[in-house]
Amino acid sequence: MEINSFADFVGQEKIKDYFADAAKNGRAGHAYILSGMKGSGRKTLARLFGASLLCTSAEEVPCGTCRSCKMVRSGNHPDLITVTHEKPATFSVEDIRDQLVSDIQIRPYYKGKKVYIIPDCEMMTLQAQNALLKSIEEPPPYAVIILITDNLSFLLPTVRSRCTGLSTVPLPDGLVKDYLMKKEGAGKREASICAAFSGGSIGTAAEFLHSDTFREDLNKTLEFIKRSKELPANEIFAFAKDAASDKAGLLQILDIILFLYRDILMFKTMDGPVSLTFIDETGYIESKARQTDYYEIGRVIKSIEELKGRLRSNVNAEAGLDVLLLDISEPVTKI
Ligand SMILES: [Zn+2]
Repeated sequence: MEINSFADFVGQEKIKDYFADAAKNGRAGHAYILSGMKGSGRKTLARLFGASLLCTSAEEVPCGTCRSCKMVRSGNHPDLITVTHEKPATFSVEDIRDQLVSDIQIRPYYKGKKVYIIPDCEMMTLQAQNALLKSIEEPPPYAVIILITDNLSFLLPTVRSRCTGLSTVPLPDGLVKDYLMKKEGAGKREASICAAFSGGSIGTAAEFLHSDTFREDLNKTLEFIKRSKELPANEIFAFAKDAASDKAGLLQILDIILFLYRDILMFKTMDGPVSLTFIDETGYIESKARQTDYYEIGRVIKSIEELKGRLRSNVNAEAGLDVLLLDISEPVTKI
């Protein structure tokens, strides 16, 4: 959904308050670094801040309805510039020079501020950062530069020390779930699952919600796990082979099993009502929790973590996956 005011934006209260106050009281700095994980709303927050600096309303800014706000909405405000990079994984010195350094001395088109938003700053080369440095050190009075990154450590200390740093925080699952249900039309089951998988990021949760691949992987994996006890070994190996053929897909499948086992563990540990990720699988989770001891559950969770680690360091994981899936499917022996 479209977000045109700070009130529409869910979470990140401190950053919203800070930006709203700075815009309202004319206390905006010249350079900011907005860090935090992808999907946490950094670009939207930067756009809202830019819109509020350019908004002409005397009331709450950004108003969302004045001419300036409408231009921001359509992506056509000449004084709100998003700096882009030509190559997919690199921000070059030319990108910064052409779009920022040579442009920043030109006065704003309308009265007031001129705002530059630079996403993906972790991709900036050292030369690009050095080129940017001068504009941050001696900016024209109307300029506001907002750097966005998911990895602060890629930025030069000289760049960091000249910017006001703000960082987004992961949101509680409940908040993400509510957002998906109220604003994205998600059902309770999918909202609960996508929120858990997002790690506290509304953008990532919405991506999961609208991803057909995720839905397919999810249904396929849950069905397989629930039936695995009855399956002959060759079908288990076939599933492992198929899953191991695609690394990203495999990581997803491992996460699905991991969250399922966390549910089983939670069910076993808690006495009262529990808040499960897979709310539709309560029957399976309950029976598995009854039949499996803590040691077994812990062992499965540990092997999943190990497999994920091996995958991240590019070690072939098919063999490990075979063992894991056999482990899960084995008839239960301990009560
Ligand atoms: Zn406005």
